[in-house]
Amino acid sequence: MARHIFFATSEIYPFSKTGGLGDVMGALPLTLHKMGMPVAVITPFYGRLRTGRHKIDHVAENLHVGYPWEPVTTDVYSTNIQGMPVFFIDRAEYFDRKYYYNTPAHDYFDNAERFIFFCRASLALMRRLGTPPAIVHIHDWQSALLPAYIHYYAREDPFWANTSTVCTVHNLAFQGRFSSRLFAGCGLPAEAWNMEGVEFHGDLNMLKAGLVYANRITTVSPSYAKEILTEEQGYGLAGLLRRRAGDLVGIINGADYSIWNPSTCRFLTANYSPEDLSGKKICKEDLIVELGLLPQLINRPLLGFIGRLHDQKGIDLLNKIVPQLMQHHDLGIIVLGEGREDYELESMALARAYPGRYCAVVKYTEDLAHRIQAGCDCFLMPSRYEPCGLTQMYALKYGTPPVATAVGGLKDSIRPWPAPDATGFTCYRPAPGELYDCIMKACAVWTQNRPLWIEMMIRAMNKNFTWNDSAKKYIEIYRELGLKT
Ligand code: ADP
Repeated sequence: MARHIFFATSEIYPFSKTGGLGDVMGALPLTLHKMGMPVAVITPFYGRLRTGRHKIDHVAENLHVGYPWEPVTTDVYSTNIQGMPVFFIDRAEYFDRKYYYNTPAHDYFDNAERFIFFCRASLALMRRLGTPPAIVHIHDWQSALLPAYIHYYAREDPFWANTSTVCTVHNLAFQGRFSSRLFAGCGLPAEAWNMEGVEFHGDLNMLKAGLVYANRITTVSPSYAKEILTEEQGYGLAGLLRRRAGDLVGIINGADYSIWNPSTCRFLTANYSPEDLSGKKICKEDLIVELGLLPQLINRPLLGFIGRLHDQKGIDLLNKIVPQLMQHHDLGIIVLGEGREDYELESMALARAYPGRYCAVVKYTEDLAHRIQAGCDCFLMPSRYEPCGLTQMYALKYGTPPVATAVGGLKDSIRPWPAPDATGFTCYRPAPGELYDCIMKACAVWTQNRPLWIEMMIRAMNKNFTWNDSAKKYIEIYRELGLKT
């Protein structure tokens, strides 16, 4: 058996997803697999999969997860996506829950325990499969203890001696920071507990384990790779990242155009393409009806926002300018998102204040996300920071030029107006006034210069952020780490 590249991830679409991580994991490993790489994925067996429509087999029972967790065991389930193995770590008390990481009110109290368990169980599974992995590629804090385990185990256990590790940061703000007393449950040697290890200002920081011990670090856009070296965006880890800058690279995510493509999208009533845009107008009409917006908005700019209602996404910046936009301009706004309760309430209050013109859908609904991308004229993404961002890439493909802040992956994927090859509009600072001006610029082009707008739409739709290009960069890293394929 070829020595595997194991991805360990807390989300993988279509089995689980809370945001971009799920989308990326649904596409990157599969792209590598199709390119002939021996990839397998390990992920938790969330409760909802038990009753889902996927065919998943029980492949291992009572696998011990080792010191200091004896006698705790895991069961393992497995399926494959187009021949790529996906293993599910099963322990109902940890993963059979309504939500993935948190209820709307708070994080699950035992998140550290849940994901220490996931990492330990992943190690046990790789050991059980028998062939030492070539690469273990982890994603965000939930799987970030793995490079630390492999680093220390390799000293005593030849099984791990030639395994290299890669840590990909999808969002540095989420670090898995927990009380120091949880360190004992990790089963790492005492020497890992210091500033050069997993300790972070007296706490356990699980992402830091990945950043310290992985052979390589990647993040999801070249601009974000630079931004996280600054104190402002480094969330306390900039110093460590600067020391490791030689091992850090930014690789922009791709978009999965088999799912996000207006010419084939199954959630739309009319499909369209750069060659024939007529379906987009039908999508707009249908969206207006579906969401109960005023019919005259068909001839006015319709702006859409999709995302977690979190500081990062700048929903508060948008909501702050909504009254002014609504009073002075004839346009419509649709917000689809869930997250912080105060932002949810604020959005719902605005919907009550401006019925038919501002619509807030506070839930997670995949198919509506596609219809908003298709039915809106412009896509709003006023993020304070954005490691990569996928929704703006989808917006480009759906001919819905983004209005966004020029940060991270937004800067790397949107060519701002008034460049002759513009695909959208950007503002430099995440501030309400700048966002307002930027929306005004976009609306002015939309209303006053339709041919130019259509040219921009077509250019945006022809942009391709393909996974093949990104996957090749990951393969380069694996080869530098000794992968022979
Ligand atoms: P992040 O990973 O920071 O949440 P991304 O832009 O990378 O942001 O990816 C977000 C993904 O989650 C996209 O596929 C987007 O359509 C989806 N999404 C976010 N919120 C919702 C929602 N409320 N309903 C449906 N899809 C959503």
